Amino acid sequence: MTSFDLLHEFAHEQLVISQDPGANYVGIVAIHDTTLGPALGGTRLWNYARLEDALVDALRLARGMTYKSAVAGLPLGGGKSVIIGDPGRRDREACFRAHGRYVDTLGGRYITAADVGTSSSDMEIIHLETEHVAGLPGRSGDPSPVTGYGVYMAMKAAAKVRWGKDSLAGRRVAVQGAGKVAQNLARHLHKEGAKLLVSDIDDAKVQHFVTEFGAAPVAADAIYDAAADVYAPCALGATLNDQTIPRFKVEIVCGGANNQLAEPRHAAAVEKRGIFYTPDYVANGGGVINICREIEGWSEERALEKATGIYDTVLRVVEVAQRDKVTTAEAADRLAEERLNAVRALREVRRR
Ligand code: NAD
Repeated sequence: MTSFDLLHEFAHEQLVISQDPGANYVGIVAIHDTTLGPALGGTRLWNYARLEDALVDALRLARGMTYKSAVAGLPLGGGKSVIIGDPGRRDREACFRAHGRYVDTLGGRYITAADVGTSSSDMEIIHLETEHVAGLPGRSGDPSPVTGYGVYMAMKAAAKVRWGKDSLAGRRVAVQGAGKVAQNLARHLHKEGAKLLVSDIDDAKVQHFVTEFGAAPVAADAIYDAAADVYAPCALGATLNDQTIPRFKVEIVCGGANNQLAEPRHAAAVEKRGIFYTPDYVANGGGVINICREIEGWSEERALEKATGIYDTVLRVVEVAQRDKVTTAEAADRLAEERLNAVRALREVRRR
């Protein structure tokens, strides 16, 4: 799909391209929807080959944020920004100050945060130019503990649906990736008595899993064939695809990675194999919940309480899937749209 098709089909509210030649800055802000609140979404710094690629990425990611915040029950809309450039560029002050100035012109309709290629120290630079930035050092901090906990809650709900009880004790969970989200997820699983299998391209991280959680190491590509009950993708996107789906022996997919389905049709392909798919943006909503600590002034306890709610959201997704006879991925979208439509339909009440 071209950027024009995406704009048309998903009805984004606003798309802004800005540049500051002196700062070697070209940035895009896509605001998909602000029905539920200001559009929240990170800033991605990436070497896009063409402006069109950057536009498509920003538009897709912005829409994804609308749905993620909507199902997580947050008072936030969806947006995203991308800056075209080398993620390792050294001239960060000029680049992110320029970005901050343009974010500021949106007057709070868009709030940014860190994403691929950017960090909390880049957010600190943006903060020199605008208040509309979250994920600052010393504030809500690393989101992965809340994300990992939310994935754990989603997995328990998936277990309840698939096996009739939500205990994961004795269940074998094949975790792909041994990074930040995976480690936080593994902590809860290990405590509950689940048996872990793990793969990562970084041997040191695998070793940490073996020592800390008694996990069994698996070669990177062999994770799709692992004799396990649950596959937990916590590394890359698109690992549910034509090549991997026929290989799985698991009964549940539930993990923290974004965009787990290579294409939307793979949701049906997974279900056809009798595997329960936990929609990715429902399971990993803890990251955006954590950012809400900063925006809404929530305590850590409040954020964890909200992440506990991911359990009920998964059950609600299943209700909608059964009601409408659709995949869980489609049901999650419908759940988000139901909330958006209900708020859009509110009567306008004049104060005077
Ligand atoms: P991370 O960089 O800490 O961990 C990712 C791990 O995946 C790394 O250890 C990396 O070596 C490993 N990896 C890369 N390719 C691999 C492969 N082919 N096989 C096995 N392992 C591989 O990142 P993270 O913060 O833990 O995020 C993991 C995923 O969750 C990403 O998709 C991210 O977008 C998503 N996510 C993260 C958060 C968060 O709070 N950090 C929130 C929402 C979604």
